[in-house]
Amino acid sequence: MSPSSREKHGYEFGGPIGASLISFGLPIGCYAFAFLCNDVSGAPPPSLLHPSTLSLDKLIAETGWPGFSGLCSVRAILGTLAYYAFSLVLNVVLPAREVEGVELQNDQGRHKYNFNAFSSAVFTLTIAAAGTALQGPKFPLWPFIHENYIGILTANILISYALATYVYVASFSVKANDPNKRQLAAGGVTGNIIYDWFIGRELNPRISIPLCGEVDIKAWMELRPGMLGWILLNLAFIMGQYGTYGYITDSILIVTFTQAFYVLDALWNEPAILTTMDITTDGFGFMLAFGDLVWVPFIYSIQGRYLSIHPVKLGTARSVFIMAVYFAGYYIFRASNSEKNRFRTNPNDPSVSHLKYIETKRGTRLLISGWWGTARHINYFGDWLMSWAYCLPTWMAGYAIRSSILTGEKVVSQGPNNEMAGAAIPITYFYMLYFAILLVHRENRDSANCARKYGKSWDEYCRIVKWKIVPGIY
Ligand code: NDP
Repeated sequence: MSPSSREKHGYEFGGPIGASLISFGLPIGCYAFAFLCNDVSGAPPPSLLHPSTLSLDKLIAETGWPGFSGLCSVRAILGTLAYYAFSLVLNVVLPAREVEGVELQNDQGRHKYNFNAFSSAVFTLTIAAAGTALQGPKFPLWPFIHENYIGILTANILISYALATYVYVASFSVKANDPNKRQLAAGGVTGNIIYDWFIGRELNPRISIPLCGEVDIKAWMELRPGMLGWILLNLAFIMGQYGTYGYITDSILIVTFTQAFYVLDALWNEPAILTTMDITTDGFGFMLAFGDLVWVPFIYSIQGRYLSIHPVKLGTARSVFIMAVYFAGYYIFRASNSEKNRFRTNPNDPSVSHLKYIETKRGTRLLISGWWGTARHINYFGDWLMSWAYCLPTWMAGYAIRSSILTGEKVVSQGPNNEMAGAAIPITYFYMLYFAILLVHRENRDSANCARKYGKSWDEYCRIVKWKIVPGIY
């Protein structure tokens, strides 16, 4: 890559300092969420609400902090590796559809992908369902997740670091006009080790595994272990609630259903990832490895973890309202993404042939009517609306755990005067806030990439379609 194109790309995420802070700060953030939403003292630990009584010892006791050695266990690592291996086996043995990726730069052709994430997930979930039907919450998968939650988190963090390091080192064997169509990502070859390790040097790293054949690491990590792991964690939380209380609330069912629907929809539409920025533009480094394997399953399921300890009964009116918000978001998300996919793959399709577009100097067409005429990333708005349905079921989140004076048993409540109500909102509504920031940041990144690609045509597009994400607002 020439210095001039390197300059054009520039650093993102705050450059090497931002990359370092994210790479070592976000894993700490994941532990913080796990310990702040605990079954020892409350969410948040009550002494956090009374800073005058706060001390390190008290916080350690109230969070159930197991010490550094307690963060990791051989059992959790082996269990996590077995889960990855199982997914790999399903990838090989279940029928898959072969799909071609987008045209690579420099006329290097297209990569082929074998996709069966949906059937693999359904297969795994069927085993879990059959086991649960026979053994209830005692089906070994659920206690395993409960007893090893922190260990499984650590195992996935370690796998992300190892994977990012492996692909970083392997990327140095990419040749110019590589016969295996290997390419470096334009944004990942700055020469700064930490930044390139974080953002990803190689565009589509692949690995040949004995008996499994060639696996595209990025596409595989993006839609397999973390996405299904997210559903499995939520199901374990449902089983946890049932095991503790003997019932399952509407709120945890809504969280699990809406999130599982989102995941299974993404897996069903697996080939659609081939045109996303992650696959076409970003390299595979720590950012994506950690996002796929740790951030998505563990941070996105925090509401389920909360509700497994503190059940919330929503009732019909609130449940219907939350589901209505969800399906409104889903409709916008799916309709806009499908409209673009259809237009890009077959512009003569009757459902999109009437749409207006501008032709860029590169020959690519940008829609300026239909969903894509309302805002430049109307699909992000739908996605964000859906995130409301993940957080609202926790309602006025916050609980404390006390011992009953009469029986000595643990009592989980919001306190006699509801003093804990709302105290955990920063934890259980974090996803909505974070996701808004992610989507605004992603919109800016995508816009900068498109401006680089399309030059004046992109400016013209932005003049016609003024709003970025939310029509009339942003
Ligand atoms: P998009 O699917 O919006 O794709 C952006 C690309 O589409 C642009 O780079 C451009 O690529 C093309 N494009 C832009 N405008 C137009 C237009 N008017 N007409 C036709 N093509 C256009 O972005 P993402 O890949 O970021 O997101 C895909 C989905 O994944 C979204 O719904 C998003 O919400 C979701 N997502 C979810 C995340 C999560 O954590 N849950 C994280 C990130 C994304 P080109 O012209 O080069 O083809």
